[in-house]
Amino acid sequence: MSSGDPGPSSRKVIAKRTLQNAEEVVKAKKPRATKSKGKEKEQSYGQWPQYFHSLFKVYKALNTVLAFVTSRKQLATTFPSIRSSVENITRQPLDMSQVAELKALLPEIITFAYVPRNQIQVNLSTKSSNEPDFSAFSVSNQSNLGLTKEPEHVLLLEFAESWKGTAGGTRASQNEYLLPATRTPAATKKLVEKRNERYIKAIDELLAATPSTEDPVSLLQAAAREHIPLDPAYIKSNPSVDETMHMSIPNSEDRAPVHNILDDLQEQDWYKDQIVERRTVEAREGQTGSLNPPLSATIRKALQSSRNIVSLYSHQAAAISALDSGKDTTRALVNTNDPITVNSKIPLLRVLEHDARATAIFVYPTKALAQDQKIALENILKTCPGLEHIQVFTYDGDTPTEQRAGIRTGASVIFTNFDMIHAAILPHEELWRSFLKNLRLFVADELHYYSGTFGSHVAQIMRRFRRVCAAIGNHSTRFVSCSATIANPLAHMVNIFGLDPSQIQVVTEDGAPTGMKEYLIWRSPYVDEHDPALGRQSSIGEAVDLMRFFMKRGIRVILFCKIRKVCELAMKTLRTELSSEGRHDILERVQAYRGGYSAEERRRIEHDAFTGHLLGIIATNALELGVDIGALDAVLMLGFPVTLASFRQQAGRAGRRKRDSLAIFIAEGLPIDQYYLNNPSELFDKITDNLIVDLDNEIILEAHLQCAAYEMPVCFEDEIYFGPLLKKICRLKLHQDADGWYHTHNKYLPSPSKHVSIRGIQEDKYVLVDVTKSVVSAKILEEIEISRAIFEVYEGGVFIHQGRPYIVQELHHDSKLVKLVQVDVNWITKQRDFTDVNALQTYRIREIKATPHRAYYGRVEIFCQVFGFYKMRHNVILDVVDVESSPWIHETVGLWIDVPDFVLQLLRDKCIKPAAAIHSAEHAFLNRFTLASDIRTECKAEEKEYLKKESRRKRPARLIMYDPVGHGSGVAAKAFEHTSNILHKAWEAVDNCECERGCAKCILSPLCKEGNVVSSKAGALAILKAILDIKIDPDSIPYETDERALRGHDSIVTVSPLHTQSTQNVLIERDRST
Ligand SMILES: [Zn+2]
Ligand SMILES: [Zn+2]
Repeated sequence: MSSGDPGPSSRKVIAKRTLQNAEEVVKAKKPRATKSKGKEKEQSYGQWPQYFHSLFKVYKALNTVLAFVTSRKQLATTFPSIRSSVENITRQPLDMSQVAELKALLPEIITFAYVPRNQIQVNLSTKSSNEPDFSAFSVSNQSNLGLTKEPEHVLLLEFAESWKGTAGGTRASQNEYLLPATRTPAATKKLVEKRNERYIKAIDELLAATPSTEDPVSLLQAAAREHIPLDPAYIKSNPSVDETMHMSIPNSEDRAPVHNILDDLQEQDWYKDQIVERRTVEAREGQTGSLNPPLSATIRKALQSSRNIVSLYSHQAAAISALDSGKDTTRALVNTNDPITVNSKIPLLRVLEHDARATAIFVYPTKALAQDQKIALENILKTCPGLEHIQVFTYDGDTPTEQRAGIRTGASVIFTNFDMIHAAILPHEELWRSFLKNLRLFVADELHYYSGTFGSHVAQIMRRFRRVCAAIGNHSTRFVSCSATIANPLAHMVNIFGLDPSQIQVVTEDGAPTGMKEYLIWRSPYVDEHDPALGRQSSIGEAVDLMRFFMKRGIRVILFCKIRKVCELAMKTLRTELSSEGRHDILERVQAYRGGYSAEERRRIEHDAFTGHLLGIIATNALELGVDIGALDAVLMLGFPVTLASFRQQAGRAGRRKRDSLAIFIAEGLPIDQYYLNNPSELFDKITDNLIVDLDNEIILEAHLQCAAYEMPVCFEDEIYFGPLLKKICRLKLHQDADGWYHTHNKYLPSPSKHVSIRGIQEDKYVLVDVTKSVVSAKILEEIEISRAIFEVYEGGVFIHQGRPYIVQELHHDSKLVKLVQVDVNWITKQRDFTDVNALQTYRIREIKATPHRAYYGRVEIFCQVFGFYKMRHNVILDVVDVESSPWIHETVGLWIDVPDFVLQLLRDKCIKPAAAIHSAEHAFLNRFTLASDIRTECKAEEKEYLKKESRRKRPARLIMYDPVGHGSGVAAKAFEHTSNILHKAWEAVDNCECERGCAKCILSPLCKEGNVVSSKAGALAILKAILDIKIDPDSIPYETDERALRGHDSIVTVSPLHTQSTQNVLIERDRST
């Protein structure tokens, strides 16, 4: 403990003094009638039953004591700790039942419940100084280090609005936590008065609502009985109490219909009109179809005995018929729980029936999906007489080397991925020749997954693949794909496979029966509906409340979170609340699921989900793809999931044949969520954007031509696969032999595919090790990439896994080892960091058409620095900790455009922050660029721009966009080449948009790392105009009026164009686009 720390005993003295102060204030106060304005209320106050006056006395005492205690923020307010102070003021015993009556009267603003003891502890780590004191009222805490059992509980009493609200609800107000934490005496006094008025109002409302035949006092007393908290420890040791208190969880088959459950939901006392939109999609009967010629008796029997399939749905029959007629097919349906297996597997069975040597490839984007589907196929084959011997294998990165040769020669069917086709199958074409020669079926599922840069790589891999097959004489492979509903499935299949559109049959009708589905849009209620200024309840809290409500009623639910940290926070909150309620029966049936968990752990969770053991899953979009986790009844989405396609994909996770289901979008405070709150119909009706596959990306194309040339020398006739850019790239980048054939350039040899990473370069990983018990019995918790590790693990920080907090004890950068210890705390840490994106060197300069301005392309540095963290509890900062760490610097390429000086001055004259204007202009630019999801920009953070203290970190006045590190994919180069065009479209979009302050159609981006909080539509418009040399009328720029945006300081400085030695020699490229 540092010398400045007063130590536990003196802390207690301080704590005690705080309480005495509170008591004195109340004693000194003259009793007065009420501060209420208006005669009506004063009259009613005089006519109150005497009982409410004495209850008011108790309330006022409580209010004062709590206000003073929390004004110092250091003290946790347990019931026993508050009790004597209140009794000193009122000079009468404080009874639990009185507090329960107050709770019944003002349920929203009073918290009176048992919570796990860890909720009120803060000082576990002895590292930091200036530690706030929660220990005054809690027992020794060091002994809890390493505690793994469920925590014991204490009775907490506090005003909810002192910590609820703002968390995730309205991000805009999160800035408040940067203000000094202690409240001034004047503010405390005001707060006390405001709360007293709430009591008067509540009693008045109660009296007005009570029928003349009833006694309001006994009504309140009766209501209060439900609010007397029960100690979970007592419930646990008295099973009979448990039974009477808890409804048992209905099993999934017996649960009530969704309709009834929603009615029940709206009856709950915590329901405050959160549902702002409700859509019902009625159930639909299935449509069957028939085949000509029909399936053979053996296949029919196999389908029936393995999967209980007796007839085909219309879309299945349509797809199979198309294949029979020699066409390739793609199918796009939204219902991801439909067995996609049938479409592609029946044709396989038919092919195998006729040709025992036939082979097939099934491709899935993840190993887990491939595993799943392989098992499904094996089960069918087992029951199909004559085909039992067919050999099916997975062939992925985990397949042991010694097994690979056997698979190449013995397999009829392999389940694999494009990574393997790229790096293991095509480069060793000679080893696979007989397999490829007999290939009759190529199936790629989840086709929508392949878009953007990754999709562009996959498209070139497929061209290489088809070229090799053709060369060895196989022209009879049929291609089959399935995807979620996408805007243009035909175009996407053509792009990915390079097939002739007339060869493809698209099946979009869906013949499968579906149950009724309810869609809800949910908005968190105000913390206090009488005082909206306090903000809205935390959306994580809402999500967790909904989950608990549904699970208790046997509804199997998945909660999707956008990022890993939120996923863990939700799990932690749920863990706390269920354990407070004593619902360990439910708690043991909930799991978190996200990237970073070990494969083993993920398989276990998937299995638990599939078998129906799990009632609840809290996941990131790692579970968005179709890994079969069994039937779910409800999907909750916490925040808008980045794209409309994701929204629909996630919503499609609930529902199975003929059962009703539910999908709820829980809006967060972010501008993009607000946009969909105001335009709900877009969520359901708007057509999703076309999936982009960039076939003209020269960097990607060259990479795959180098690989293709290694597989078989390339000639100009290969244009039919690789398109018109082939000639140019061959001449410039490949090596030509005497006969005119093109070969791989030497620098790619001996293994060109190793130079081409289709998912970006695999980053080094840090290993997180749990050393709670001992170093000897340490076990690996998870492995995380360096780019995450830098922000997620730092010494003294809290890292959450399965909702359980761990503290980072040691961090070794050399060995990339992180040691963590499980702890029992209820605060989290939030890192303090910044990222600067700096242009270093100019490679190319390009005119911005018809203007004197230029766009630049070149070397860019990403500079990340973590300099400390906050310890936080419910969005309140408990402590500020500095850490020493070296910055993380890495390089990539990007483009930038300098902002003309005069427009910065125009903006400043109108009090618009140049940083907000630049940030919005960057997003407006990216919103008009089709490959935006594969490119990054320097997002401006609220913490920096709207802070009271001026940041020393000034940034150049420049729009900058760059390729993600490790993805040398040429996306930034593409944006650079189309700069003029994109700028024009961005300007038009912003100028023509009818919104007032910016929306998803103009300047807001779902990809913004900082939630679009720092933004200015008017500013973005001015900057775009200035760059495009369009005249700006200064009077057309409105003054900034948003109070939040007026705070803070200007962080932008003018820069002179980047001059490096090379710049003088760079030719300015003309823009000849029309
Ligand atoms: Zn707009
Ligand atoms: Zn941004």
